[in-house]
Amino acid sequence: MTPPARVRDDLVELDSYESPQLGVQTRLNNNESPLPPPKGWRDALAREIAALPFHRYPPREANALRSAIAEIHGVPPEAVYCGNGSNEVLLALLLCYGGSGRRALSFEPTYPLHSRFSRLTATEVVTGERQDDFTIDAAHAERRIAETAPDVIFLCSPNNPTGVQEPSDTIERVVNGAQGLVIVDEAYAEFASESSLERVTESGSVVVVRTFSKAWSLAGLRLGYVIAPSDMVEKLHLLALPYHLDVLKQTAGRLALQFGPEMRARIAEIVGEREKISAGLSQLDVKVWPSSANFVLFRPNGRDAQEVWQALVDRSVLIRSYARSPGLENCLRVTVGSPAENDRFLAELKEVLA
Ligand SMILES: *Cc1c(COP(=O)(O)O)cnc(C)c1O
Repeated sequence: MTPPARVRDDLVELDSYESPQLGVQTRLNNNESPLPPPKGWRDALAREIAALPFHRYPPREANALRSAIAEIHGVPPEAVYCGNGSNEVLLALLLCYGGSGRRALSFEPTYPLHSRFSRLTATEVVTGERQDDFTIDAAHAERRIAETAPDVIFLCSPNNPTGVQEPSDTIERVVNGAQGLVIVDEAYAEFASESSLERVTESGSVVVVRTFSKAWSLAGLRLGYVIAPSDMVEKLHLLALPYHLDVLKQTAGRLALQFGPEMRARIAEIVGEREKISAGLSQLDVKVWPSSANFVLFRPNGRDAQEVWQALVDRSVLIRSYARSPGLENCLRVTVGSPAENDRFLAELKEVLA
């Protein structure tokens, strides 16, 4: 008998990425859009599918899709690399710029997949902290960069799961202090007032990662991209699996970009609903953090957040619990849903807390 295959030693301790998908009526746990993509997009996609050459491999470097993305950001197509979700883009960046003998710095608490993908690529993870308001103290960041000399630095603005937008001055100081790659994860930038897009230059090492999963209502499509210096994009293409973006996705993504006005109208509604949720929460006995994203983080005062979370599940409302997460103790995160879903969440939470 051959012995069972052994998983890589450095992956033995990896726990599963937990995001329970329960069968509830109101799902406000995954930062998805409450609305499906516009009907016009579906119709346009149906028309193009009829003529797609499925028997051929797709355009390898997805030039039409990349050009369309480049156009909305006013950058050249050579500055755009696409992946199957921005998660895959993050993994590709780490395969290129992280790896064995290299280090990645992230400021906790933040998106857990940044450190997870670092581990998957055998990149050593080093961390910095956030302040009580969940922003990064710029002097602390500079100190951690000097101490750890990271090859990759993760910034997430607006940060998930806290919702805070990093002050521009802090990002500037991190970029100036960095020796390696600075990845600004902007999964929620469309809901915020600032972006680091103009920090991406041909000679610099700042890249901005975006996704179709949130503002574009296309979490099911699995499409994300990075705006980066063109030589970096070339390296990413060298490393990518051949034909990694299927023809359907390339078409669907390109067509989605024709619905910018619809997307912006949805964002305006979600931002309005976000403010409604924040205002509603501030009437209850919870601490609320200001959000620049499509979700709100809060902490029940004097109540066990895990019990509050379970009580909401029992009422068929699912939000995300961080009750036992380091740095987020007793916190809960609610995704902005439809107006009716948000009203229901607020009403149920009010009763649970009463
Ligand atoms: C949701 C999210 C993503 C998006 O991942 P996709 O793979 O594009 O769906 C990336 N980064 C952060 C911080 C997120 O919250």
